[in-house]
Order: sequence, then structure tokens, then C-alpha cells
Amino acid sequence: MIIKPILNSAANPGKSFWLLQLLFLTAFSTLAQEQKHLPIIDVHVHAMKVNPAFSGDMCPWFLKNMPGGDPNQPPPSFITLDCADPLKAAKTDQEMQDAVIGTLKRLNMTFIVYGDPQIIRKWQKAAPGRIIPGIGVSSPKDITVKAFQDSLSSGFYKVMGEVAPQYQGLPVNDMSLDEYFAVAEKLNIPVGIHMGTGGNGMANITSPKYRASLGNPFLLEDVLARHPKLKIWVMHAGYPMINEIIALMGANAYVYVDLAGFIWSYPQEEIHDYLKRLVQAGFGKRIMYGTDLLVWPKLIETSIGLIENANYLSAEQKRDIFFNNAVRFFRLDESKFK
Ligand SMILES: [Zn+2]
Repeated sequence: MIIKPILNSAANPGKSFWLLQLLFLTAFSTLAQEQKHLPIIDVHVHAMKVNPAFSGDMCPWFLKNMPGGDPNQPPPSFITLDCADPLKAAKTDQEMQDAVIGTLKRLNMTFIVYGDPQIIRKWQKAAPGRIIPGIGVSSPKDITVKAFQDSLSSGFYKVMGEVAPQYQGLPVNDMSLDEYFAVAEKLNIPVGIHMGTGGNGMANITSPKYRASLGNPFLLEDVLARHPKLKIWVMHAGYPMINEIIALMGANAYVYVDLAGFIWSYPQEEIHDYLKRLVQAGFGKRIMYGTDLLVWPKLIETSIGLIENANYLSAEQKRDIFFNNAVRFFRLDESKFK
């Protein structure tokens, strides 16, 4: 664009050549600056010690086929390898860290991370300022209220998550969890709660106490009513309970959702229907990007790609999902991302 008038001024070719050189150099340095990826905040990352015995490769969108079976037969495998290019599982903690932090830096990302504090500290060291630790409570057996409050007050943990009592058959509105939410409310800590999705056979194959009904987003209404200052986001966007999540967000103006997990496990058409419906219902400013990263480093690009390919979202809506909504929800300082 800038070069065009110079090319047209052929009167003094020698001068034009040097001007062109200069312009190319300027263009290249501008390009190098522009190559910095627009920032992405991933609000749902798990950091854990890699156990090679339990970390196999995985085909994204593996739940496109929920095979029939019989309780008297061996259970169907949770994850399938029925695709051309399965995502490779990391085999060691170091391999996982190098790959994940490499991607984080290349894509200009910031992670909200749950899991093993030792791993979280290592990641923080490798990517200063880009790892925000979260601490989850899914049952009063996990940690005492006092210890939980101390963990948050120490300043290391900035977020409460992943809270996932559903896997233990415990309703999120159970009074045994109430004091923990009171602590988060008092300390102004945002809370991420697992609601909904579980995969094929979660209740009768994987986690016997899991109940689909306990993923009902309406269970959050009591918690929100008891704690009016509590900031909650519903993880996995409460998939597949679209009507309930829309009603909940309509009734509770500060509730957000993340897209973690279900965007790489359920069939793509189904995911897009769900996301489209959320945006169509007016909640484009309350959807946050999340991977639900476990042991497959490439899952980050796979999940980001799904949002980038959503042709029903405008560029602005995608930026909201990838960045703006999380900055607002977590009260982050936007100038730090410039
Ligand atoms: Zn979850």
C-alpha cells in the first residue's frame, strides 16, 4: 500500500531504489511487531504430574460416536484412537511443560491453572506473569475452611476452581460447601464450577457417584442467592443444558461461562449449535475461552482452532471470547497485555 506511489514515481530510479529499500525495512520491522499474536486467556488449564501409564494419545471429538454396549461385556473405552492424527500425550512433566509453555508464549497466552502446586510453580517460573493459580474444593473432605482461607490469603491462589462436586454425587448447593463460597465471596475471589458434561458412561463406567442431574445449572441459584457478591463462572458452559444455562444467566447478571472440554470432545456440529445458541441468546460478552488442558499439549491449538473456524462469530465476538470477557470477569489489568 505504501510502496505503490514510489513504484509509480519512475522519474528517478536510483532514489526510488533506496526509498524502496527503506520502506521494505520499515515494512519488515512493522511485520515483526504485528506477528505478536493477539492475547488469549485460557481460563481452564489443568496442571498435573504426568503419569505415562494413564496418558495415552487421543482423538478430538471422540464423543461423536457413543457406542452401544452391554453391562455384561467389557466397558467401551472412554477415549478413541479412531482418527488419522491423534493428539500425542506428553510422557514426562518436562516434555509437557516445554510444549505447553512454548505454545503459551507463541500464542501470547495467559493461563488460569488448577492442580499440582509444584507443577504450577514450575510453569510460573518458565512463564512469569502468565500463570494464574486456582485452588479447587469439591468436598469438605478436600481441605478445611480455615486452610482454604489461608491458601487464598497467602496470595498464591487468585481463583477458586475447579469446583466439581458433581463427580462425587454432591450437589453444588449443599450446605457443606457453603462456607467455602462465603470465603471466596469475602475475599473477592472468582469461582469456576464444573457443571454438566461428563462423557460417555461417566455414571456407570468411570465415576459411580457422578449424576447427570447434578450438572443442572439451576443448582447454582441457591449459591448465588446466598452470596450476592460471589462471582461465578459455569465451566463447560453447563453443556448440554442450554435452556437452563440461558435462564440462569438471564436471571443472574454476573454469571459467565467457559467453553472448556466440550469443544474438543463432543461432535463439532453439536458444539457449534450450542455456542451459536449462547451468542444468539445475547451472551456473547459472557463467554470465556478455556481448553480443559490435560496431558495433550496440542489440544490448545485444536480448541482455539474450533473457535477461530466458527463462521457465525464476528472477529469482535471471537476477541471477546478469547480475551476481553476474561479480562472483565477476572478484573485483570488490560494494559499489562499490551
Ligand atoms: Zn470440568
